[in-house]
Amino acid sequence: MTPPTIGVLALQGDVREHLAALRATGARARPVRRPGELAEVDGLVLPGGESTTMGKLAERFGMLQPLRDAVRAGLPAYGSCAGMILLADTVLDAPADQVTIGGLDVTVRRNAFGRQVDSFETAVQLAGVPGPPVHAVFIRAPWVEAAGPDVEVLGRVEGGPADGKIVAVRQGRLVATSFHPELTGDSRVHALFVELVREATAMRARDHASSAGAGADAGSEGRTA
Ligand code: GLN
Repeated sequence: MTPPTIGVLALQGDVREHLAALRATGARARPVRRPGELAEVDGLVLPGGESTTMGKLAERFGMLQPLRDAVRAGLPAYGSCAGMILLADTVLDAPADQVTIGGLDVTVRRNAFGRQVDSFETAVQLAGVPGPPVHAVFIRAPWVEAAGPDVEVLGRVEGGPADGKIVAVRQGRLVATSFHPELTGDSRVHALFVELVREATAMRARDHASSAGAGADAGSEGRTA
């Protein structure tokens, strides 16, 4: 089966590391900066960086509405850190003019872990990721403060002051983590996303085939009627 093509939104952030992690899973990966490039990918990674800046750049590059439309239409997307914030339906501690993509029925709090723990690393056990816990790197990270009924919690912090906080979620074709798996050389989180993209692509192909079949049937009925 041809590997899926996954884009990495390349307005800001650690794009190269995500491209490398995606390629390590066997996917094709390319940067996405324009609506035309967005239209050509089977899935999209929204990297970490600064969500307010990324939102502004997306607007300036004419990408904000295409991104919102693509996610609404079912394009699989994985948001890491700032990318999680961009996908969240509700953002706390955001400036009033912050723009986002939305689609994920969660409330996230920006810079949630507090100033004393700006950045930290810990092991997080993730549902759907086989093997030992992933080494999670948090950099001025958000956490998920509330998640809607269709959101599956994939992982929480265990122990410490943030014990129990949700840091990885999935809702349908959307995945988000508070942390940065692209920085660790472990591509298991990317592999989980690539698998989801494969399934979504296969489903789309089946839908196309069956609607083409239905169309042909309707046509022949039309002729015989
Ligand atoms: N604090 C950043 C924001 O609010 C996210 C940090 C990151 O992506 N590493 O966008």
